[in-house]
Amino acid sequence: MSFLINEIYPCLQGEGVNTGSPSLLVRFHICNLRCTWCDTPYTHTFKSDPVDKKNPSGKQKFVRFSLAELVKRLKEFPQKHLILSGGEPTLHNLGLLMRTLGDEYSAEVESNGTRIPHKQIPNFLVTDYNLMQWNISPKFSNAGENLVPEALAHWAELAKNHAHVYFKFVIRKDYLNADMQEIISIINQHKISANKVLLMPEGTTIQSQIENIWLHDECLKHGFRYAPRLHVLLFGNLRGV
Ligand code: SF4
Repeated sequence: MSFLINEIYPCLQGEGVNTGSPSLLVRFHICNLRCTWCDTPYTHTFKSDPVDKKNPSGKQKFVRFSLAELVKRLKEFPQKHLILSGGEPTLHNLGLLMRTLGDEYSAEVESNGTRIPHKQIPNFLVTDYNLMQWNISPKFSNAGENLVPEALAHWAELAKNHAHVYFKFVIRKDYLNADMQEIISIINQHKISANKVLLMPEGTTIQSQIENIWLHDECLKHGFRYAPRLHVLLFGNLRGV
């Protein structure tokens, strides 16, 4: 069993219900999707890491860790709250990782919601869902991707019995009506509670994260939460913060 890790760094949680919490971001390498507006395309390839200015050689940056090596590396940092992001982190056995790290650690997972870990990852236990918060960000036509209905139904069902499952949808200002129509349809079909839904403005520039009264109004209208991107507001598109 190995874990492909793109980067690890301390930061304030940049998105979602825990925005601003001191955390350790663990970015897993490789994703099963190819969203048109993906802000981490450097996790997609085994060949090189061309967008990393700190690594201009273009050589591979990700590191393959064994479970023991990854646990040892994470314990070198003082932060005990992990953001397990990607790429797509559920391609790895997060349950085993959290069980091995032990009770002093908490985690939240940033997943695209296209996978069902206990069915697709050997030794991921049903009880492992309780070890983490799940921030599910379904990708649909606005990302050039298709939903995986069976997986989305799984997360929606889990949300009914698990307090820490949230659905975060990325919205594009220029396509607000179309995006909202699709999101409302997804929420109705899967009976997702409005208080579990967050709307996040798409964009990797500071400008994209301000003047978002349009999104404030949509959240109020539907009873959704507003999820600004704190790390973009603070640093723009700088990587590793
Ligand atoms: S799911 Fe996330 S990491 Fe994967 S392609 Fe889409 S935006 Fe990028």
